[in-house]
Amino acid sequence: MSANPETTKLALSGFAFMESRHFDGVTLGIAAASILLFLATGGTVLPELVGYWRGFGGQPDVILANALILNIAVILFGWSRYKALSRELVERCKSEEQALRLADTDPLTGCQNRRSFLPAVNALAGSAAASGCEIAVGLIDLDHFKAINDYHGHQLGDGVLLETAARFTELLPEGALLARLGGDEFAFALTYHNDEHPRIETLVDRLVASAANAIQIGDTTLEISASVGVASSRHADGTEFPAAGGGENLMNRADMAMYQAKKRGRNRVQWFEPAMEYEQRFRGELEAGIRRGLRANEFVPYYEQQIDLETGEIIGFEMLARWQSPDLGLVNPDIFIPIVEEMGLIEDLAKTLMAQAFEDAKHWHPRLTIAINISPLQLRDPWFAQKILKMLVAHAFPASRLEIEITESALHENPGLVRNTLTGLRNQGVVVTLDDFGMGYSSLSQLRMLPFDRLKIDRSFIRDLKHDDTNAKLVGAIISMGVGLDLPLVAEGIENDAILKTLRGMGQLKGQGYHYGRPEPAEQVLERLAALNLLAPDANGPVDAGNADLSEVPAQKTA
Ligand code: C2E
Ligand code: CA
Ligand code: CA
Repeated sequence: MSANPETTKLALSGFAFMESRHFDGVTLGIAAASILLFLATGGTVLPELVGYWRGFGGQPDVILANALILNIAVILFGWSRYKALSRELVERCKSEEQALRLADTDPLTGCQNRRSFLPAVNALAGSAAASGCEIAVGLIDLDHFKAINDYHGHQLGDGVLLETAARFTELLPEGALLARLGGDEFAFALTYHNDEHPRIETLVDRLVASAANAIQIGDTTLEISASVGVASSRHADGTEFPAAGGGENLMNRADMAMYQAKKRGRNRVQWFEPAMEYEQRFRGELEAGIRRGLRANEFVPYYEQQIDLETGEIIGFEMLARWQSPDLGLVNPDIFIPIVEEMGLIEDLAKTLMAQAFEDAKHWHPRLTIAINISPLQLRDPWFAQKILKMLVAHAFPASRLEIEITESALHENPGLVRNTLTGLRNQGVVVTLDDFGMGYSSLSQLRMLPFDRLKIDRSFIRDLKHDDTNAKLVGAIISMGVGLDLPLVAEGIENDAILKTLRGMGQLKGQGYHYGRPEPAEQVLERLAALNLLAPDANGPVDAGNADLSEVPAQKTA
């Protein structure tokens, strides 16, 4: 942590103050001694001296007279020094006050800052409790503010913060606190009588609505919205929250509520509810479990067969992550991947799983491919392609056997970077598939611009596929588009024979789904491949691809 310049300034001014006080005392002591000396000697020597100067008396004692003059000089000097120091002291007190004020306020908006807000909330909570009132604390986060800074520059970003702070100030009642905690995060606190809860709810709704009104800065009109989490000492239904009074507690709860507001789609208010605390605790335990599980190698790859629907041959497997948690059992990726992503550990997990998948796939027939799902977060890394290629080399695994699956949401953030990454991988022979296609994110022009080898039709279209229904028409349209763009298609989620038959009638497709089997661990894959004589040559003797039994893979019972 670096030293806060304000604190340093304060400490320095305090030191100077103490020093000047000390010096002040010495000066005063000397002046007092001089005055005493003056009073003792002045009464006799001064009249003699004055008389001598006026020509009335004899010469006074030279030493005494000089001492007296020196005395007077010291008194005058002491007095002027005392005056100067007093002035200096007043100045220092003023600048000290200003430094304190600066340390307590946000320089951009003039609101309170994080440092001063918590003590102020605590004070407000104390006075509310003493007078039988309630207190509400809200945290306000501007949605996608970073985009405004990125696209319009920091000056306009500052303008948005200023305008937003002004709107909040206008709406909040007298006596309410408003702070900018940092970046685009604001906080407010206010007290109210317990029968006024509906009024406070309306007020908070108005804060959100005011943030959502367009902001005009010069020629630019900016649209932004806010997510607000509010916690109060008493809930709308009149129940009092246990231990809700403290400022820190209220801010924590408002923070949990704000997280929910963001999760529920932003531009809204969420009041704290006790269930959020349990959820947070559960989430904390889940995170701890994930960390432990990563160290203990509890995350393992499962594999789902991919089939050529024409011939029924296995063409490869899709790797799907599983967490073998000692507490929770086998956990599916829909649960843990988003959390691992938020924890910033997706790269570590992906690396471990991919390394395992390469080693597993080395035991398979060399014509079988392995498809790996890539998180959009991994594609933000400009070194992603290099890292993959390095891993391929480290595991002596041919690039042509690797297929990566990218979802459409990964394409929007930085299309230039994604394009370079995918092109780099394709140039080395890696196959690139667009996963979950049809969920509605990618435009046709994007499809043309981005270097894909295949499209995977989302399983929501395949799930209830029947002849001549709307889904069949949609899948038909997607297939024609794939043919038009010269992109082979894979259908995922083939659950039964009826779907398979429908798909077979629609064109040349590859596919996968529970009809062929559930995702299974590496050992089961080996058994399956051994039965089909599809193990790598060195795993069960030389494989003659021509003689290998690649006939129709027996369809398994849908689970
Ligand atoms: P996905 O890529 O769309 O994977 C297909 C999902 O559909 C898998 O769920 C699979 O078990 C399931 N599935 C396959 N056939 C059928 C079927 O016939 N019917 C139904 N209803 N479902 C079927 P799973 O394994 O739970 O994976 C869920 C998602 O988690 C995956 O969706 C993928 O997006 C993500 N994921 C899985 N493994 C990884 C990984 O290693 N890294 C990353 N980043 N994401 C992963
Ligand atoms: Ca996939
Ligand atoms: Ca998919």
